[in-house]
Amino acid sequence: MQFWPAIFLAAAVTAFGASPSGERIDDSVALVSQLQAEEWLRVWQKRLSLEDWKVELRIVRSWELKPDTLGNLRWNSTARTATIRVLDPVDYDLPLAKIPRDIEMTIVHELLHLQLSVLPKDSSKKADEERVVTRIAEALMNLDKERPPAPATLSRIGAEAGQ
Ligand SMILES: [Zn+2]
Repeated sequence: MQFWPAIFLAAAVTAFGASPSGERIDDSVALVSQLQAEEWLRVWQKRLSLEDWKVELRIVRSWELKPDTLGNLRWNSTARTATIRVLDPVDYDLPLAKIPRDIEMTIVHELLHLQLSVLPKDSSKKADEERVVTRIAEALMNLDKERPPAPATLSRIGAEAGQ
């Protein structure tokens, strides 16, 4: 059928545009590009006053992350460099429309871990930090988007390799 590619192209072009009601439409997996993810990183890095960090963002396949995780963070406090890895949409187990927001949430989540990296490391508090970071990230995203939270199917693991 010859007309399908044209239809998909049209959907792709409008996917991050605004609908008449002003709602954002996130409906194409292919649209979470490196550029889009870096734009989310730039915006949230500024909002969280983390601009003195050089943060690299990488979209990675599932085998580059711990099993059942959506992202991770590695950082070097001395050099003030960090790398955030987020799961490639092709490996996501969520409805397509929910993936862009979830990736943005993972970026916020990992930046919050980076924010907390100034605190003394205490591996016995890892689960507590995870819970706090998850709640704050969801609150920030909800404030930003004024939309109900998207349930994540997997946990986000950060903060396992800082120094
Ligand atoms: Zn985490």
